[in-house]
Amino acid sequence: MSGLLGKVIIKGTIEVKTGMRIGGTTTGLKIGGVDLNVITDPEGKPYVPGSSLKGKMRSLIERKEQVKFNDKGVHLCSSDEDYKKCIVCKIWGTLGNKDMTCEMLTKLIVRDTLLDETSITDGMRKNLELQWTEVKFETAIDRVKGTALHGSLRQAERVPAGARFSPMEMIYNVYEESDKDILVKVFEALELLEHDYLGGMGSRGYGQVEFKGIKVYWNTTQDYESGKLNQKLINDNLDTPSKIVEKFSDIKKEIK
Ligand SMILES: [Zn+2]
Repeated sequence: MSGLLGKVIIKGTIEVKTGMRIGGTTTGLKIGGVDLNVITDPEGKPYVPGSSLKGKMRSLIERKEQVKFNDKGVHLCSSDEDYKKCIVCKIWGTLGNKDMTCEMLTKLIVRDTLLDETSITDGMRKNLELQWTEVKFETAIDRVKGTALHGSLRQAERVPAGARFSPMEMIYNVYEESDKDILVKVFEALELLEHDYLGGMGSRGYGQVEFKGIKVYWNTTQDYESGKLNQKLINDNLDTPSKIVEKFSDIKKEIK
């Protein structure tokens, strides 16, 4: 059994560079006359679900690491042997199966990130159709013919460029020394995501985001016993995913 050595806490801000839509549940109920609503918190404000962010990071790393996919396009290690070699499942998790005996401990937790209301300025509000969001007409395209589907004009809600979601928080549990090395994959995933998109309709230019003001803290188990949390900032001024990846060896040295 591996004991917990400590937790790396990653905080930061998600800045929306081009309109972003993370879809809400489609109940068939139009809200504000919009066909495609964004997901909102209980106060009706858009937010970034931790599951969306974590899932997107995983899918980008899976492609980069060239893992194997099943016929449904899903990658999940299902044997001890595969799991032990798989960076993706070690960090992002796997469902496992009854034949697996190795420990599969949760490593990465990604919280929901709420909208920073102050990021929606008065100037931006003038161009918004709804309180926090804009509404765009989008045509569904017939993928075979490459033409617009008849009667397919839909209203899509999206978070405007310039919006910020904060505080973003991820927790990375460290159980063994090798966990410190593979932490870099979390930041690689964020780099890849900046050059991809979050949410839907990325092929239409939606969902470009940047991660800013990243702060990385290291809390040992002793820190939890003494209540001295988030006091060891280990990334100095390396506050973007690429800066962190470039100098990751310096950061890793501080996880001790
Ligand atoms: Zn795997």
